[in-house]
Amino acid sequence: MKTANEREAELLASVPTGLLINGEWRNAASGKTLDVHDPATGTVLASIADASGEDAMAALDAACAAQASWARTAPRVRGEILRKAFELITERAEDFALLMTLEMGKPLAEARGEVAYGAEFLRWNSEEAVRDYGRFVTTPEGKNKILVAKKPVGPCLLITPWNFPLAMATRKVGPALAAGCTMVLKPAKLTPLTSQLFAAVMQEAGLPAGVLNVVAGSSASSISGPLLADPRLRKLSFTGSTSVGKQLMAAATENVLRTSMELGGNAPFLVFEDADLDAAVEGALAAKMRNMGEACTAANRFLVHESVATEFTAKLAARIGALTVGRGTEAGTDVGPLVEEKARANIHALVTAAVAEGATVLAGGNPVEGDGYFYQPTVLGNVANDAAILQQEIFGPVAPVTTFTDEDDAIQLANSTQYGLASYLYTKDFSRLLRVSEQLEFGMVGFNSGMISNAAAPFGGVKQSGLGREGGTEGIAEYTTTQYIGIADPYA
Ligand code: NAP
Repeated sequence: MKTANEREAELLASVPTGLLINGEWRNAASGKTLDVHDPATGTVLASIADASGEDAMAALDAACAAQASWARTAPRVRGEILRKAFELITERAEDFALLMTLEMGKPLAEARGEVAYGAEFLRWNSEEAVRDYGRFVTTPEGKNKILVAKKPVGPCLLITPWNFPLAMATRKVGPALAAGCTMVLKPAKLTPLTSQLFAAVMQEAGLPAGVLNVVAGSSASSISGPLLADPRLRKLSFTGSTSVGKQLMAAATENVLRTSMELGGNAPFLVFEDADLDAAVEGALAAKMRNMGEACTAANRFLVHESVATEFTAKLAARIGALTVGRGTEAGTDVGPLVEEKARANIHALVTAAVAEGATVLAGGNPVEGDGYFYQPTVLGNVANDAAILQQEIFGPVAPVTTFTDEDDAIQLANSTQYGLASYLYTKDFSRLLRVSEQLEFGMVGFNSGMISNAAAPFGGVKQSGLGREGGTEGIAEYTTTQYIGIADPYA
């Protein structure tokens, strides 16, 4: 029986440390390496190759060289590689879960959930690969014919964040492969190891050289810059902050790239007076505390009808105050560390400012002393509707509660943000669900549910939360382009 330390060391030793370019794991051209840390301890887990622009261009060369043959590869073959990768990841679920917990901090139980969720994008897209239909119709005039074909958009740059290291990669790689695109994947420098292992699994599943290239590096812009400037790149899919997304969209105009942008959120969690309050508290826990609050879908603002606010807030504070903070690898941990000290300091500054503006701390409210970047699960009551903490993504385990007076007030408060990704609604009244959802300016609504992500559903936002959708039948469309062939009257 191996000890936990031996198991971790063996897993880390199995993760490739090179850049994946044209099917080979290579050192960076500069010879430089990048250290990856455990946020629970601050210790170095591994050192991997640190890509530069030169490496990024070699990766794009490989993706371009592989594009034509991958596009011609039978959809069934593409689908079967994806299916095989789904199976391999499922078999190695414990490895992927532990690796994510080590490099990102989330509790193992949540990491296992992400493996299942992330792998599903490979299975879902293995099925979508063979169902990417075009159409053939007669023109309204009745003579000529219209043939509409779907084609892969071409070589893609996929940029992913650190918060869901596997799922954010599979959500892009799955549909891109299904559609017949080749790609350069750039994972976040804080959590590149999961992408390294994922790429090794894709190779094992039979993916041809050059189709998926992976370049992690310490300077994201030196990797993305030359790629976005190269007219051979045809698509950018980005998940990350709205501010970086805007910069990348501006750069993508140069070559008029197709873009998919999954950006930040500021999710309202609406609790109406008729809601089942116990169910709402459980939903709130899922929507707020999953991933330590480091999720774009995280409930950021609890908007509660004034008649039930005291009861809801007390129940929420009792549940959140009882959560166990600890290393993600320890049994019984509910809330792991934040990803880095900078993130923890930002969150504490938001809490301190809210308290100075009159909010009451009902649970937590402080960093946890000692190693790692832990923060106490926190509930703030009496938060003013215009408090700074309600205007931006908290991205941490902090739940601010404020009140509304009626439905119109709730909708107005919910929509008073530049973001429009996830929203949540607790009520027993189905007519209210439909009425309020229609007026909510959000790409997604959770109805009596604090968990809405699913590979079969179109995930994405409106307003400054982004463009495009990942998952569902919409997901693959982000990677295809439409070609229309006008056919002369065959009877003429
Ligand atoms: P981020 O700082 O915007 O980074 C995201 C990715 O962009 C990382 O790979 C990062 O690389 C790269 N990047 C950063 N600056 C860049 C630049 N100037 N040029 C090119 N690439 C650059 O975001 P994050 O802190 O990792 O992730 C948190 C954010 O992602 C939150 O706002 C969250 O809401 C959002 N998010 C959205 C979704 C969604 O589906 N809508 C899902 C998850 C997360 P390095 O990290 O290596 O610097």
